[in-house]
Amino acid sequence: MKQTFTRFLFPAVLAIAATASSGQDKVLNLYSARHYQTDEALYANFTKQTGIKINRIEAKEDELLERIRNEGANSPADIFLTVDAARLAKADELGLFAPVRSKLLEDRIPANLRSPDWFAFSTRARVIVANREQVKVEDVQNYEDLANPKLKGKVCSRSGSHPYNISLMASLIARMGEEKAEQWARGVVANFARAPKGGDTDQIKSVAAGECGVAVSNTYYLARLLRSEKPEDRRMMERVAIIWPNQKGVGAHINISGGGMLKSAPNKESAVKFLEYLASDDAQRYFADGNNEWPSVPTVAVKNSALEAMGKFKADPLPVAALAKNAAAAQRTYDRAGWK
Ligand code: FE
Repeated sequence: MKQTFTRFLFPAVLAIAATASSGQDKVLNLYSARHYQTDEALYANFTKQTGIKINRIEAKEDELLERIRNEGANSPADIFLTVDAARLAKADELGLFAPVRSKLLEDRIPANLRSPDWFAFSTRARVIVANREQVKVEDVQNYEDLANPKLKGKVCSRSGSHPYNISLMASLIARMGEEKAEQWARGVVANFARAPKGGDTDQIKSVAAGECGVAVSNTYYLARLLRSEKPEDRRMMERVAIIWPNQKGVGAHINISGGGMLKSAPNKESAVKFLEYLASDDAQRYFADGNNEWPSVPTVAVKNSALEAMGKFKADPLPVAALAKNAAAAQRTYDRAGWK
């Protein structure tokens, strides 16, 4: 419904963009793969602070990327917001982003959460979920453990081509090298309870139902279920152990949501202002909490009962730019290992 609406609005965005370049109303054309209720407040607040009106196009990540490519130099898009380092890497590889130098962004966003071309504004972790009746929690404390033959027939997963798994593999390649990472992937594939299917929430449900002993999931899917008003969701979560992986080693794999300014941006000044705004205290809270994530700016705290319930953890400090760099190798590794 929302998508149809925004599509319908698109010619109006073009018209407004043209007006802006002639020096009238200040606007920002935002292409966003985000669609959370708190985003309305996030954007309204920016307009209130700066007088810059936001024209927003919301669609699926890959659709937006395709659209920006097709529009080429004539694209009205100023900013592309999306989730996952692998997707930002793809946009970067296609040469869509313009480098942004901003003292404010460099001061606020930790170096491991940005590249010269794009910035992370929130983080999520990829954690292990286990059914206590199916596996021993102490046997699944590390990503490496998922390849242990002890877990034969117990592991469920979404596709190896999905960006979340690509980024996880990219981090393993950075930590153990491609060869060992492939061995790991082969071990996990040998442990599959079924061929990869569904999304993270499907894996959580299957773990709760005992169809799978163990799986991995992004934290916000777990937080969503923990905060759910539906009693069946909360009952389901009682059957699922959430395990912070690799806490005695490098820490849990972290991914991000974020964005950057496009090379063809017609409103570059507004675009930089918007990126800087997203790093402000208020915006960080909206941005992260809208999807039960953590702010990128370390001094900003969110009040979120589900995140608090999951407890404190050690995050892998690997730069997200390294995930981006290893994304292609990660896909090759899954392919060789037969992780479909
Ligand atoms: Fe997701």
